[in-house]
Amino acid sequence: MQKRTLGRTGIEVTELCFGVLPMGPNQMGLAPEEGGRLIKKAIERGVNFLDTAQSYRTYPHIRAALDALPDKRKDIVISTKSAAKTYEEMSEAVEEARLALDRDVIDIFLLHAARVDSSVFEERKGAYECLLDMKSKGIVRAVGISTHSVDVVRKAAEVEGIDIVFPLINRVGMGILHGTRDDMVVAIKKAAAAGKGLFAMKALAGGNLLTDIEGAFAYVRGIEGISSVAVGMVNEEELEVNLAIFNGEPVPESLKSRAVNTKKLIIQAFCVGCGKCVETCPNMAMEVVDGKARNDKSKCILCGYCAPVCPQFAIRLV
Ligand code: SF4
Ligand code: SF4
Repeated sequence: MQKRTLGRTGIEVTELCFGVLPMGPNQMGLAPEEGGRLIKKAIERGVNFLDTAQSYRTYPHIRAALDALPDKRKDIVISTKSAAKTYEEMSEAVEEARLALDRDVIDIFLLHAARVDSSVFEERKGAYECLLDMKSKGIVRAVGISTHSVDVVRKAAEVEGIDIVFPLINRVGMGILHGTRDDMVVAIKKAAAAGKGLFAMKALAGGNLLTDIEGAFAYVRGIEGISSVAVGMVNEEELEVNLAIFNGEPVPESLKSRAVNTKKLIIQAFCVGCGKCVETCPNMAMEVVDGKARNDKSKCILCGYCAPVCPQFAIRLV
């Protein structure tokens, strides 16, 4: 599989990045051993790049995979992120990742900033400065930001300390904040021209583009500046389809149909209408109507961020 260097970091990653979010407790809830087996298989087949986050609670899944590989495959590139706001919170988040992943050095650590606007660098100044300090101490190799916002990508292109930008982009522009799909492409090119390393999320728009998976990936892979694409995977069929596409091999029709995403979001009747999910959703895909949460499928990218914030455990992604 083709490898590319992320901007000026010297970090070389495969074009397919294993997105570890969906196997975790926010979505499919695979046991660490089961999820770890799938990650291990992907690594054995050539994938060298994993994307996770503090809030995904999937460090145990990654650890299970790496512990089962020779020398714990210290060469595998792990990108994680935290919604920490202060210096202290970010410091704790980095330490948590180092301990849970059994890594002295975290390759890529990002500000997890899905729904915020470009004031994020002022509002979370402490957290950002912590990451810069961690980098200067050699505890983190590269720092950056994950975002759904065109404005944040534009701003990140101008922030000197940012090495990596992890934007949301897909062929239909679903989930993009503060601009259109084409605005995001322009912002990505601007960030790449400024020397930032970029990898993309939500190329399949949360499963909405699975009917033309090859076209959806071709669109994102064709954007100048995108080095890798993070793709969530929870079973072997999905892994095989994605490996075939990113290796430039034909995908058997039988495999494609079995990999079709049947994931859906369910709001259970005991929702009390507190609105926590509305505040959390990065895509304005939740509202409270007549005292109950309602999901707008045309906006929902099935990211699962709303499920863990529900105090009633009323949201399930199945
Ligand atoms: S967070 Fe849970 S209880 Fe609150 S409105 Fe959303 S689904 Fe309902
Ligand atoms: S409703 Fe939930 S799953 Fe859908 S986009 Fe919003 S946070 Fe993500």
